[in-house]
Amino acid sequence: MERYFWHLSAAQKDGMACLVCGADFLKERITSVPVGRSPDDESQVFACSEPCARRIADEAEQMAHELRTVAGAPESGDGVDGAGRDDPVFCVDGHFGSLLRDLRTLAGTEALLTTSDDLATIRFLLAMTARHAEAAMMRARLVLARTEQTGDGGE
Ligand SMILES: [Zn+2]
Repeated sequence: MERYFWHLSAAQKDGMACLVCGADFLKERITSVPVGRSPDDESQVFACSEPCARRIADEAEQMAHELRTVAGAPESGDGVDGAGRDDPVFCVDGHFGSLLRDLRTLAGTEALLTTSDDLATIRFLLAMTARHAEAAMMRARLVLARTEQTGDGGE
């Protein structure tokens, strides 16, 4: 497994202690399993097979679920012009609605970024941030331009 674990004690980095509960594998008779690597030197790090490794797996599944939710829900067709030029700007399916979905996605990625310490996950989140931030910028400009035309707002 190639997940990285940060903020480990020396014993945890050396694989001598559980990186979840901190149990000392030298003193206690605990079955440990490798669950990832230390980013410092790529050495394997371990957790008690029960319940700590299971907890890590559960968390990973939970995170994968959240990622799928965040990645899948908004932005299916994409394309800023795809919504159609005659759509009302502020209707749910219009640019404003799409903009809100992008912003919600960005808020979701922010929440995940603050809790992720897995490089692959972080890179995935950053790619998603870049995509949705760009889409949000374009949609915001479209809404600005549209509202300026109708005289309702703007600069
Ligand atoms: Zn443990």
